[in-house]
Amino acid sequence: MSIESAGARPLATVTSPGLRPDWQELSFWKENYEFVLAAITLVALLIGWIGGELTGALPDWAVTAAAVTAFVAGGYSGVIGAYQQARQGRFDIDFLMIAAALGAALINEWVEGALLLFLFTLSGALETYAMGRTRKAIESLSKLRPDVATVRRGDQELRLAVVDLILGDIVIVKPGERLPVDGAVIGGASSVDQSAITGESIPVNKLPGDEVFAGTINGGGALEVKVTKLASESTLSKIINLVAAAQEDATPTQQFIDRFSQPYTWTVIGATLLAIVLPVFFLTEPFGETLYRAMTLLVVASPCALVISTPASALSAIAVAAKYGVLFKGGAYLELLGQTTVMAFDKTGTLTPGRPVVTNIHPMTGHSETRLLQMAASAEALSEHHIARAIVEKARERGLSLEKPTAFQATAGEGIAAEFDRGDHVETIYIGNDRFFVNAQMDLSPAVRMVGQALQRQGKSVMLVVRRSTVEDTLGADRDWEVMGYIAVADTLRSEAPAAIRDLHALGYTKVAMMTGDNAAAAHYIARQAGIDDVYADLLPEQKLTLVRELSSEGNVAMIGDGVNDAPALATASVGIAMGAGGTDVALETADVVLMSSDLSKLPFAIEVSRKATTIIRQNVIFSVSVIVTLVVLTILLPVFIPGYLLPLPLGVVGHEGSTLIVVANGLRMLRMRP
Ligand code: ADP
Ligand code: MG
Repeated sequence: MSIESAGARPLATVTSPGLRPDWQELSFWKENYEFVLAAITLVALLIGWIGGELTGALPDWAVTAAAVTAFVAGGYSGVIGAYQQARQGRFDIDFLMIAAALGAALINEWVEGALLLFLFTLSGALETYAMGRTRKAIESLSKLRPDVATVRRGDQELRLAVVDLILGDIVIVKPGERLPVDGAVIGGASSVDQSAITGESIPVNKLPGDEVFAGTINGGGALEVKVTKLASESTLSKIINLVAAAQEDATPTQQFIDRFSQPYTWTVIGATLLAIVLPVFFLTEPFGETLYRAMTLLVVASPCALVISTPASALSAIAVAAKYGVLFKGGAYLELLGQTTVMAFDKTGTLTPGRPVVTNIHPMTGHSETRLLQMAASAEALSEHHIARAIVEKARERGLSLEKPTAFQATAGEGIAAEFDRGDHVETIYIGNDRFFVNAQMDLSPAVRMVGQALQRQGKSVMLVVRRSTVEDTLGADRDWEVMGYIAVADTLRSEAPAAIRDLHALGYTKVAMMTGDNAAAAHYIARQAGIDDVYADLLPEQKLTLVRELSSEGNVAMIGDGVNDAPALATASVGIAMGAGGTDVALETADVVLMSSDLSKLPFAIEVSRKATTIIRQNVIFSVSVIVTLVVLTILLPVFIPGYLLPLPLGVVGHEGSTLIVVANGLRMLRMRP
């Protein structure tokens, strides 16, 4: 019986690896045809112009053929664009450009019309190029994951498409292979290069029980990995989709321009018609002159430069940031991040790598150290918190076997509760910080508290472990609860944190704060080393949020965090920044910017990219508007002041399209930025 017919494939419709079709690889032609068309236009234009107008060397039919070739090649993408817009009932820049080129031909200035089309196609090509750079970043990400995996189902070994794997499949990863899935190691041992996902350059040792990511490279050992996430939900797929989605999100400047491009186009068309009709009644000039001026007006008033100014800069900025591991989820955050002046850091997992180690195991009231650790680790086994991992790790180091809880509940920023079935009663283990037990209304004796405070003064995160037994058949009443002891963990500061915080001050941040759910002593201990003056400790997730609101009275707030408990604050801040793959999914999804490699030194870089992009966008908008205004005014007023003199159409074309090229080139400057 085949595996399919055995019903082992509940998700028959999963065919996409989570990659949007429009971000799949484009053919060479699709990517470059605009450059080719621009080149054809230019060549035909030069042949026709030199052979015709300049020297008269070519016969008329050849000049006409050259002109037609230039118009067809140069007008192709514009006509397609105008047609697509028109189908949605819109008239846009493409339409204006085609109208202007035809208008130029109408007044016997085909060379200018062709020049216009050439420059228009060229700037379109440059725009595609800028966007292509970003798409390449996405493609290289999606190439990280192999398409097929070796899977063991029953006693068969199969080669299956990664998208067809189901949860629980056992994947065999040979030495040197890339991992195809996110999963848990269940057999073998190896070291894995996770740099593509977490940015850690040193390979990480993987043993049964450890988590592995799709896209990472297996080292010298073979691994058996149980699939825990479908291909479409792997961390890698999420990252790819985040990058792709970022492209579709326009900057505020862009949104403004988009909104105004429709009415503007209509205005230009209306003004052109008026410029043809009005002079006939009020001026005594040859109709040819009237038409010439109207066509010049049509050309110079087209807002090509303005329309391209923002996307060219924003996309280049997003691309260069992505290249160095900073993911902006949209152009909007590009402009916003540059405006923040307050930076709030989470502590655990953000300022520290979140790889704490257990430093103290302090049993109380007749419990043994081993029993305390064993029960704590059993209870924490289902938690994803850094502290939980440290405790489980410690228990494993000591070779303790863990019990399976029957129920588990985590309270973000406070602690956890886990239930164990003891036959006639249920035993619940509570692990958490001071607040957790205050909220649970368990009054600790002064003697117990003193032990905890002593540990906190050493800058450690201290957790109390409490056991409670409930006998179910006596009305569910509580029998008792007792303190089992304390477990303390300590984390170290990320080595790059002090420099990053110094950079933030240098960048003009007026306030750099820490907000943590951990105790004040541990918070100050880390803050001192990091160079942070404002410390807010013992915070609940809601309190982090409230604090972000309060801080926003001092300026736009950027908040950077990694945890579930940071998500509300990340959403509230002007810009939420998440730590990359080391962070939780919730933080990753809520944030507006992601530091892929969880490397804090990329934070000042992100801010610089953001500020520079904002500057360039502003330059571009001001420049392109000035050029349009100048040319329009000249077109209309020149004949008034110098009777009989019209702004030459070629000058209009060069001024107009030249400004478009300058604006695109200015935007592409972003690509040269380095951390
Ligand atoms: P931060 O805000 O610095 O990232 P968290 O808010 O994630 O830190 O955690 C704050 C505190 O909540 C921890 O220091 C710990 O005391 C307690 N805590 C959170 N989760 C757990 C857990 N799974 N087990 C024990 N204690 C926990
Ligand atoms: Mg955290």
